[in-house]
Amino acid sequence: MTPSTICRILLITTGLWLNLAVATPVVPLGRELLAVHRETILRVFLPRDLRAAVSLSCLECRSALGALSLWISAGATLEDVENFAINECITLNLFPGDVCFGMVKLAGPEVLYVFSNSDYSHDTMCGWMFGLDCVHTELDPWTVEIPGGKPEPNHPEPVQPTPSVKKILHLSDLHVDLLYDEGSAAVCDHPYCCRNAFGTAGPGVPAAGHWGTLAYCDIPLHTLEDLLSQAAEITTPDLVYITGDLPPHDVWAQNHATNLIAIETTMELVRKHFPDVPVLNTLGNHASAPVNSFVVPAAYGDGWSMSWLYDSVADLWAEWLPESALVDVRRGGFYQYSPVSGLRVISLNMNFCNTINWWLLIRNEDPVEQLKWFVETLGNAEAAGEAVHIIGHIPTGGGDCEHTWSHVFNQIVYRYESTIRGIFFGHTHGDSWSVYYDMDTYTRPVAVSFISPSGTTGTSHHPAFKVFEVDGGHEDATWVILDATAYSTNLTEANMEEALQYIL
Ligand SMILES: [Zn+2]
Ligand SMILES: [Zn+2]
Repeated sequence: MTPSTICRILLITTGLWLNLAVATPVVPLGRELLAVHRETILRVFLPRDLRAAVSLSCLECRSALGALSLWISAGATLEDVENFAINECITLNLFPGDVCFGMVKLAGPEVLYVFSNSDYSHDTMCGWMFGLDCVHTELDPWTVEIPGGKPEPNHPEPVQPTPSVKKILHLSDLHVDLLYDEGSAAVCDHPYCCRNAFGTAGPGVPAAGHWGTLAYCDIPLHTLEDLLSQAAEITTPDLVYITGDLPPHDVWAQNHATNLIAIETTMELVRKHFPDVPVLNTLGNHASAPVNSFVVPAAYGDGWSMSWLYDSVADLWAEWLPESALVDVRRGGFYQYSPVSGLRVISLNMNFCNTINWWLLIRNEDPVEQLKWFVETLGNAEAAGEAVHIIGHIPTGGGDCEHTWSHVFNQIVYRYESTIRGIFFGHTHGDSWSVYYDMDTYTRPVAVSFISPSGTTGTSHHPAFKVFEVDGGHEDATWVILDATAYSTNLTEANMEEALQYIL
């Protein structure tokens, strides 16, 4: 950092910048200052899962946002800021031009709106979104009312052998790439590869395989179809849970239409391979374009909306859901439905806990009153003596789920521990589970969530799915999980043998 930069940062942080600005052409100076912090600005536009390794301190971040604020208040337009970000992205050689242009144009209007309308300080914005050494790294805490009258904890052990076992197939993170090109470059200068448009294979550049590639690539359509076909045949499920992320990772090249095509295509194949099976979906962070962006209702009044996504998936999910559930899908992307007698499935829109959903900077307190509804729904299930399964995309308790949201969710799970018999998440692409403890002593386990593996590959995951055996389908069914089996295929062998084989 040059001495003049330090000087300017000091001027901003001490408030002297404003005095200076009066006597100086603000816009050119603002641009110059922004250029010093161009990587910070770009980091706002470029999602975290792109390979944009940018290291910065909280002070640098805050001063960059301060400069951006000044530039905007001095008259910079959305186009000025977008052009600046695109040019700097290209000049710094962070990404190819089409990535810089696509990402900034896609996210720019929203990011600038949120930045200009949020009540949070620059310190909190920097600390919350980037996890820097800021004073504030969390958004304001909040809670929802949770009724008392909790019954004595009851975690039924099913009678062995149970009179009936039902099978639930859990699919997650399918991320189908409809533009995948076999033989294209599997390693390229774009954030995701395996398309002819992003490079051709050659000496030292591995080629995209027929069934997929362990690289920054998603799976082709025929691999998705094969996965669904084999999953149907191997598991013969009674229920299917799909925990989100159906579009691919070309997040700079997406728009509402491209994402809906990926979602519709996947739903069509699901209908084809599971014709008479109830299918329960939930929305992943990649359902939206720009990625991670789920508008809070507090911004609807200014013309922002999620109806392009909520209305579209409501139409697609109408195959399996009644109108009473679709009303909630259109309202907030969540719903509850009882696909079989005695079991209620609650599908949560976990994108309102996503720590990179910038709309939470407008309102983070239970934005669509989803957790309030969650409590009411669990209360009704408790009163009716029903078992509940919860499906969602982003697991709670990890770095991707907002701290307060996770905490409130934990409190709700603890209150309704006797009613909740299964929690199913995705998003990490790995195969794991996590345990919820009581909120008094933090020593007694009260629930477990299962995080199932991805259908797509990325750099390190072979396509996979999971099947759960549950005690269900008889008069005293508890719907507790009896067993879980993960199936995966070896892509390297499959690409040589021209057939995918899913094994335990
Ligand atoms: Zn995913
Ligand atoms: Zn995800």
